[in-house]
Amino acid sequence: MMVHGHKGFKFRNWAKTYGCHPEMYFQPTCVEEVKQVLDLARQQNKRVKATGGGHSPSDIACTDGFMIHMGKMNRILKVDKEKCQVTVEAGILLMDLNVELRKHGLALANLGAVSDVTAAGVIGTGTHNTGIKHGILSTQVVALSLLTAAGTIIECSETSNADLFKASLVHLGCLGIILTVTFQCVPQFHLQETSFPSTLKEVLDNLDSHLKKSEYFRFLWFPHSDNVSVIYQDHTNKPPTSAASWFWDYAVGFYLLEFLLWVSTFLPALVPWINRFFFWLLFANKVESSDISYKILNYECRFKQYVQDWAIPIENTAEALLDLKTMLEKNPKVVAHFPVEVRFVKGDDILLSPCFQKDSCYMNIIMYRPYGKDVPRLDYWLAYERIMKKFGGRPHWAKAHTCTRKDFEEMYPSFQKFCAIQEKLDPTGMFLNAYLEKVFY
Ligand SMILES: Cc1cc2nc3c(=O)[nH]c(=O)nc-3n(C[C@H](O)[C@H](O)[C@H](O)COP(=O)(O)OP(=O)(O)OC[C@H]3O[C@@H](n4cnc5c(N)ncnc54)[C@H](O)[C@@H]3O)c2cc1C
Repeated sequence: MMVHGHKGFKFRNWAKTYGCHPEMYFQPTCVEEVKQVLDLARQQNKRVKATGGGHSPSDIACTDGFMIHMGKMNRILKVDKEKCQVTVEAGILLMDLNVELRKHGLALANLGAVSDVTAAGVIGTGTHNTGIKHGILSTQVVALSLLTAAGTIIECSETSNADLFKASLVHLGCLGIILTVTFQCVPQFHLQETSFPSTLKEVLDNLDSHLKKSEYFRFLWFPHSDNVSVIYQDHTNKPPTSAASWFWDYAVGFYLLEFLLWVSTFLPALVPWINRFFFWLLFANKVESSDISYKILNYECRFKQYVQDWAIPIENTAEALLDLKTMLEKNPKVVAHFPVEVRFVKGDDILLSPCFQKDSCYMNIIMYRPYGKDVPRLDYWLAYERIMKKFGGRPHWAKAHTCTRKDFEEMYPSFQKFCAIQEKLDPTGMFLNAYLEKVFY
């Protein structure tokens, strides 16, 4: 049976910041159907882009050619309890995988903030969380298979097609269609989260101690102030407890905040006050909760937003953050929404991982879009990028950045190696799009 495509589909990413009108939209249910789409694309000289959860805040998943939504290729193919490994079709949402793994007494050791993202999608962009003993999510992958532009399926792992494996672990969607992914899991575990107030000085002075104290340590800095909320997440045997409250989490933390952020689009000078007020309202006390790992590692992202998230060598954390603070103090017209989320990730050897050969600190900045309204952010964005570049940063592949090939050549010792693999696998550029042209040309 031939796979059917649809015309007239409009793709929009989660934050509704980018979208596209693919010429044809496919939702294959098996490898044979994906092959048929690539055959058709080859015959008609079309470009192809696979999408997963559509969560990337940039245009990395956009195309005006053929779009393949992988959501129907979401089966669990094999659970190896001995090795604690699971092989899945690449379009599976991690939220479904988490639940299935739980049934087998297994879990992923680390997840990003949300799980309505796919196995292939998170490794495509180098999705990360926090914890200096943990790498980006791709470091949990032990094998994968992909369908190349020529229609060949290649299996790769540390021991088979090892160079391609190291490239595919952050593949940017440009090496082929990822068909299956095998994850190394761990026995199921529970986490306790403890968040407590602190100051920027205290956290930066005692960074090593915080990193040692908590397996998944991160902190939120409230720009235009010294306020910090420290978040520890650690293994626990305690029964699940929750600190959730509709009033504080939604009525105040979402509806009131969104309204005030909207007001601040007319009165930007309100932003520093909002940051301090909400710290005092919501983050000034110690809060504890515990649950199964994925419910603690994930957290609800309620606001549509613009984000940037660069990784810098961990030793530059304090200097870079203080530079950002000074920049905001010197330029009162530049306003920054809270929080700046600071996370820590172990270095790896994945060719295009922002943590390539470096233990890293990710500094995620945001500007919310209250009621979908865009807020001026250019000055903040450019100043942040300058600081990140100065401290040896590399941008998150899924998020905003203005970098081009020249920058990436300087940032990544293995950039040429990745390009050579990409050119060999996809000589006609079937999997390129506007975003990737900026990366490669
Ligand atoms: C609310 C929210 C919270 C987030 N939290 C975090 C976080 O904590 N940490 C972090 O690092 N990032 C975070 N992100 C970013 C997110 O993790 C990445 O954008 C991730 O890539 C999204 O996965 P996806 O399945 O939606 O992929 P998509 O956005 O659909 O695609 C991402 C890339 O993968 C490619 N792709 C997808 N499937 C395939 C396939 N089968 N074969 C080949 N290529 C494919 C696409 O072409 C594209 O290049 C967040 C984003 C949002 C919106």
